[in-house]
Amino acid sequence: MKCTFCGGKIADGTGKLVVEKTGKLLSFCSSKCEKNMLKLKRKPLTTAWTAAAKAARKERK
Ligand SMILES: [Zn+2]
Repeated sequence: MKCTFCGGKIADGTGKLVVEKTGKLLSFCSSKCEKNMLKLKRKPLTTAWTAAAKAARKERK
């Protein structure tokens, strides 16, 4: 399973699953990722340390 926010791998039996009101499943590898997405409302694409942002930076080069 992959972290919804940072894109990192989550080992079986670890991490946290959150179900949004809309029924969307969010999986987080750490409370850091959970906080960034749910509390700080950051987007993976605009948060430097996520896989999504790294991939976006690569494409631009
Ligand atoms: Zn994560």
